[in-house]
Amino acid sequence: MLEASPVPIVLVAVLAGAPLPAELAHREATSRILGTALSDGRAHEKLAYLTDRIGHRLSGSAALDRAIAWAARTLREDGLDRVWTEPVMVPRWVRGHEAAAIVAPVERELALLGLGGTVATPDGGLRAAVVEVDGLERLADLGTTVQGKLVLFNKAMGAGLGAEPGYGTVVKLRSEGPSAAARQGAVGMLLRSLGTANFRLPHTGALKYEDDAPRIPAAAIAAEDAELIHRLLAAGDRVEVRLELHAQTLADAASANVLAELTGRERPAEVVLIGAHLDSWDVGQGAQDDGAGCAVVLETMSLLRRLDLRPRRTIRAVLFTNEENGLRGAKDYARRHGGEPHVVAIESDSGGAAPVGFGVEAGPGAVETVRELAAPLAAIGCAHVLDRGGGADLGPLKDLGVPVMSLRQDSTHYFDVHHSAADTLDKVTPRDLDRNVAALAWMAWALAERERPLPTAPPAGAGGD
Ligand SMILES: [Zn+2]
Repeated sequence: MLEASPVPIVLVAVLAGAPLPAELAHREATSRILGTALSDGRAHEKLAYLTDRIGHRLSGSAALDRAIAWAARTLREDGLDRVWTEPVMVPRWVRGHEAAAIVAPVERELALLGLGGTVATPDGGLRAAVVEVDGLERLADLGTTVQGKLVLFNKAMGAGLGAEPGYGTVVKLRSEGPSAAARQGAVGMLLRSLGTANFRLPHTGALKYEDDAPRIPAAAIAAEDAELIHRLLAAGDRVEVRLELHAQTLADAASANVLAELTGRERPAEVVLIGAHLDSWDVGQGAQDDGAGCAVVLETMSLLRRLDLRPRRTIRAVLFTNEENGLRGAKDYARRHGGEPHVVAIESDSGGAAPVGFGVEAGPGAVETVRELAAPLAAIGCAHVLDRGGGADLGPLKDLGVPVMSLRQDSTHYFDVHHSAADTLDKVTPRDLDRNVAALAWMAWALAERERPLPTAPPAGAGGD
């Protein structure tokens, strides 16, 4: 249904070479970018290398080091003006062996993944009765009755577009749940996996220990296993679980952000940033999260270089390190470069499905401007612009007042595989990635070319969120 052909715009390209008024120059660039990107296929080739040949890439892993070297090499081979890396120290958490099982009133293995950053269980593992709650408020109601127990947060995530509760709601259980449970005396925390397809698949992700609570071990279990525990408890049984986690937090490791530029022809100091994150969780291949975003950013740079489209301002690609468990790459980038004039920063970090539009957080009028610029992307179904967006890696820049945007994909199936062993290359098609490249290349070029920059966002804390 999104098969509107780029051909009519391509016809405008016959004017290429003649001196063009701004409007026609714009249309000529549109046709060249879309016409080339939509038959490109190279983003998927890049993603295939990153996922099949390098694999998952947790911060501090040898695979992430290989991915950083590969990304820099790829950008150099693709002829960018300037390619470099910037060293960043990142946390190093290692999963180790893990196992869990219901041991009473029946015996059943549980499908689990320790949460990123979890401490290990005591020697020999732990065994405790399970208390089930559906949220942090319910946990608070239970007070110290959870003492010595394993708290299970069992809240199903809404499946499908816009279904509630969404990830933004349930993710609090994963990040805040362990310390909340520990404060009330729990010895461990289990989480019904935050995912939208129930194929007995555990989904990991970062927890956040607070300083005022003991650090207790925490793991995500498959939705089906959480349902089983729920049924046993509902029948009045005391349910006991044995949990064994051998995770370790080691000394911080050296890592790096990868950067590359297409230098602007008139205002090279002014930057349009396009970014994604190169690290992933330590399961699956990090294909949707966020290998796809990296492949799209890499190929966008390559495409604009090949077409020799050199806009007024500089387009800078940044592949951030350590988005998943620390945001150290994002913070380091803002520290080093936050003082440079950034016209806008755009992140792609919601998978590699078909692009549907952009999210924008900037000053008054920015949404309307982006909507106008996105109009040619209606041909590929990517012209829908929302008044919120950005990305985790852009948070520190946003706090400095930089306008931020996200390239938005159809997220219907994103959380089916997010942070799980099923986040693999086969979930991403070349056609969808080509469309993402078309959308990002067009928008980055248009924003870098446009005479007036996007209106700046209100400063952090000024009620702009
Ligand atoms: Zn991500």
